[in-house]
Amino acid sequence: MNPGFRTLLIEGLRKFAAEGYRSESDLQEWMQRLQAALEIELPSDEESKAALARILESVYARDMRTGIAKRVPGVSRYTLSRVAPHLRAELDRRVWAGADLIKLRKRAATQQSLQRFAGWTTSVPPGGFPRIPKDDLRDVAREIGMPVATLKYERRRLAIDQGHKLSAAVAHVVAEGEGAIAGIWHDRGESDHSYDARPEHLARSGKFFLVRDSWAIEQGLIKRGSAKYTDEITEPAFEVYCSCWYEWVTTPHDLPEDMLTAKGRAWISGVRLDSVPTAAQIEAGNYPKKHLRMYGLDISIETKAGETRSGIGPDGRAWSVVLPADYGYIRGTVGSDKEHIDCYVGPNADAPKVWVVDQLDAETRKYDEQKVLLGFNSRSQALETYENGFSDGKGHLRIGQVHEFTAEDFRRTIKDEPKAILSA
Ligand SMILES: [Zn+2]
Repeated sequence: MNPGFRTLLIEGLRKFAAEGYRSESDLQEWMQRLQAALEIELPSDEESKAALARILESVYARDMRTGIAKRVPGVSRYTLSRVAPHLRAELDRRVWAGADLIKLRKRAATQQSLQRFAGWTTSVPPGGFPRIPKDDLRDVAREIGMPVATLKYERRRLAIDQGHKLSAAVAHVVAEGEGAIAGIWHDRGESDHSYDARPEHLARSGKFFLVRDSWAIEQGLIKRGSAKYTDEITEPAFEVYCSCWYEWVTTPHDLPEDMLTAKGRAWISGVRLDSVPTAAQIEAGNYPKKHLRMYGLDISIETKAGETRSGIGPDGRAWSVVLPADYGYIRGTVGSDKEHIDCYVGPNADAPKVWVVDQLDAETRKYDEQKVLLGFNSRSQALETYENGFSDGKGHLRIGQVHEFTAEDFRRTIKDEPKAILSA
């Protein structure tokens, strides 16, 4: 506590101890003087808000540097930049909410101290306590000043708490952007046994909580069993001073086996249920080997760059080509050939643009199907890869219209209205 308020407080206590309580107007005047002293000494609402904003900004910066990669493993820079405006909104919201709480606490603490002062002074009998020792008065002053003296610590705890809430909210927004399907609850008490954990939170530690209506549930890959949904329990950091957090899970690969359906287990092992690979496909390597998430889309790679893909062409002749880039299909889509939409995946997982080629028959120049070119840095890089995907040197004759999308437009279109891609 600042000497100004404290000096005035001791002076007031001494006066009332010497003279006793005489009139309400006398008390009111002292309370006003003490309140004015506190207003000067305590940080203004604006100062408190600015200090909180600085702390939360640094929490946010730390989350962006390292924290988010721990909470949403494998998060892409693309997702981070796509959801950035929402993240800033979370930061602003925590600053406003925290500043309002600090303002309320400051008012309440000021009132409490003044009430304690009034309570003590009005109980001093006429004639006062002429013999009260100085030390006793100091103890009384400390007791009266306690609510405002603890404000400083409250502000610090509140900033820490808002920081936890901010980190949880930021991770949640990013996880949604990555198509998270579950969260693993973590409590600091797991590893820090001196931490005063909430028993019910510690009991959640290490457990999987499913995201309701996730794409993995919609596709029938996971089963609920005894697991709860994330919306059935309080969120981490929701309760006061809770520092729990979710490690978000974005792919069924990271779920325990018993949470997968038969379809989910098949999905994991990379086999399409609707087309179990034939011996010839296995021989040629034309079956899913790898899954990746790009722009929140789920992609299966059937043939990796440098591997050979072969088949029989419409002319009845065998063809074989060493692929210039990873080749596969986008899950959850149906292309114009009634199969998944095929795609090449280039080197840049965060490429800002996507190109879709309307593929034509090289001889008749009639429309055949689309090929999506993901992960390329330029149209020319994408089309060069496309042309190199044919061994007959006629790749360029198969290029019909080429549609350019921003990654975000492509993601939205293919998720919300895949037909728009088909009719493009
Ligand atoms: Zn907790």
